[in-house]
Amino acid sequence: MRLWPPKAAAAAICMTASCVNAQDWVALRTSMVRNQIERRGVRNTAVLDAMREIPRHEFVPEALRRSAYEDRPLPIGQGQTISQPYIVASMTEMLGVRRGDKVLEIGTGSGYQTAVLARLSARVYTIEILETLSRDAAVRLRNMGYTNIVTRAGDGYEGWADEAPFDRIILTAAPPELPAALVKQLKRGGRLVAPVGREWQELVVVDRGMDGEVSQRSEYPVMFVPMVPKKK
Ligand code: SAH
Repeated sequence: MRLWPPKAAAAAICMTASCVNAQDWVALRTSMVRNQIERRGVRNTAVLDAMREIPRHEFVPEALRRSAYEDRPLPIGQGQTISQPYIVASMTEMLGVRRGDKVLEIGTGSGYQTAVLARLSARVYTIEILETLSRDAAVRLRNMGYTNIVTRAGDGYEGWADEAPFDRIILTAAPPELPAALVKQLKRGGRLVAPVGREWQELVVVDRGMDGEVSQRSEYPVMFVPMVPKKK
């Protein structure tokens, strides 16, 4: 006999259009991880666990909640998107986040990638250029109980000089070229992952060795929203 969870724990959460049972969200996440993420080769168990646990549907507009676990990006307003689940998982694995890491994210958007990073690291600093998105993400993440995320509305090209250097830096909007200021804010032994290019991009991994030398390689082609150019 199953004693836990008691029946009451399966209480329905009501959406605008329909009711989705809390356990159904869990089932959707489980199959998202199995079919979209593990099947494509992501193996890091901490990343897979985070993707299984974080309620992605709470990061998308109400009307799109039922599509939150589909194999695609979704609009989050103001012409921006939440990335496809596989891309979030793959980039996070590529970043190689460790427990004690101080992480910088450029392009907060919905805050979903931020939440994934916060589950795996010590502290996440995240910058979003659109004020309303930044504010909404900050409220959402605080209400969800995250205490190791610092949000800021501003231009990511400059990075976060007061908090630099960082162990890990991730960009979720694409600059035409790698922003030098961000590479500079990378610790020795640190890593940066970013989509770099114009219409479509290459996912670029930048490593700063213990000697301070920077090396760079490309992983695979991607399509991200462009990083809004720096104001002159
Ligand atoms: N990681 C996000 C994806 C958001 S899409 C998520 O999980 O939802 C990329 C975001 O980068 C957009 O919200 C966009 O407004 C933001 N962005 C674009 N140019 C930027 C810049 N120069 N500085 C900071 N954020 C920027």
